Amino acid sequence: MKQSFLFTKTRKEAPKDEVSKNAQLLIRAGFIHKEMAGVYSYLPLGLRVLKKIEQIIREEMNAIGGQEMLMTTLQDPAIWQKTNRWDDAVVDNWFKTKLATGSDLGIANTHEEPLTNILRNHINSYKDMPLYAYQFQTKFRNELRAKSGIMRAREFLMKDLYSFSRGEEEFREFYEKCAAAYLKIFDRVGLGALTYRTVAAGGSFTSGFTDEFQTLSTAGEDIIYVDKKKKIAVNKEVYTDENLRKLGLKKEDLVEEKSIEVGNIFPLGTKYSSALGLVFIDKDGVKSPVVMGSYGIGLGRVMGTIVETLSDEKGIVWPEAIAPFKVHLISLGEKGSASFVYAEKIYTELQQKGIEVLFDDRPTRAGEKFADSELIGIPIRVVVSDKTLEKNGLEVKRRTEETATIFTETDFFALF
Ligand code: ATP
Ligand code: MG
Repeated sequence: MKQSFLFTKTRKEAPKDEVSKNAQLLIRAGFIHKEMAGVYSYLPLGLRVLKKIEQIIREEMNAIGGQEMLMTTLQDPAIWQKTNRWDDAVVDNWFKTKLATGSDLGIANTHEEPLTNILRNHINSYKDMPLYAYQFQTKFRNELRAKSGIMRAREFLMKDLYSFSRGEEEFREFYEKCAAAYLKIFDRVGLGALTYRTVAAGGSFTSGFTDEFQTLSTAGEDIIYVDKKKKIAVNKEVYTDENLRKLGLKKEDLVEEKSIEVGNIFPLGTKYSSALGLVFIDKDGVKSPVVMGSYGIGLGRVMGTIVETLSDEKGIVWPEAIAPFKVHLISLGEKGSASFVYAEKIYTELQQKGIEVLFDDRPTRAGEKFADSELIGIPIRVVVSDKTLEKNGLEVKRRTEETATIFTETDFFALF
């Protein structure tokens, strides 16, 4: 893509009411637009990153047997009443609306109920399971605090997967598979070194625990206790002597850290299947409720966490796997000059090789182009100018490095 074609512009200042680093940088670099507190639009650059995160998650969910689908935003109160989750006294972050006739409608904040209800039409016998369904869908939550930018939005894209198993053992097997897939996902998006599987509260079934995936960050809202050697952590909410003993962890091996919950996995037992009548006939002809689990990842939460943890004083530093482009090609020559024509040739060749490239072809000062490039954070910067042309080469700098190096054209293309 040519930067002169991109409608977004960078800006020196973030909006005054924006306190989070992730939103400040993403707004300044032109990835997102703040509609209002906790509500953000994704602009072309931001959408490219979001789609890459989505694709990585999709690949890993498909690899463990997930089937992608898409459920609705508008929700029928009747099914939420059956599980007692319609009442605002029980779930306090609902957005609700009304039909023209006056009857109530919910605006999706999660999808356990609707999917359980859908599957009453598709699960009858033990032969119909196990099954794993997931979606990328916008959730709406009336979050009390919205000071963390895209990490805690009132409208946000979530991957939510739900598992349907014939018994506890079959459920556990998938739960562990999904935990492993989550670690792969966080590794692939560039958060591997900072992210810990974390024992948390909330499971009133089976072990009594749930698992969160927490990324170490001073911008985090959670406190966890990390065993760096064992690569495991415990959320403060379950940090008791008794639980540590259960988990085989020692207080002296644990360090207190602030962290961001980038994902979680949750045993649901038969709570929803029992309430909504999702039952199956087992091998012995006996009717039993389906054993369920739910598995969430917030895509914006992940993107914001990457900005919080990997950026520097000059701007964003995207990991290669999710960067909006792989190469930022900058021409310093005037349109029509020999160096500009050469930059155009490099641009075409990169495109032909299928390498995603943003070509800064704007008639802008060099200093501004460099500052924009650092702010936007594309992994490899390539400068073409009269000077580099004299040296018969291209100036290459990685976003993570301070200094640039002159490459021959052949050596440059050998990078890919
Ligand atoms: P939190 O405790 O941070 O509010 P949660 O327990 O409400 O999270 P879930 O309802 O299980 O989280 O949602 C699954 C995932 O969705 C979370 O792990 C997180 O990555 C993401 N998520 C939750 N709330 C938000 C939000 N307001 N904005 C962006 N992402 C979110
Ligand atoms: Mg929440």
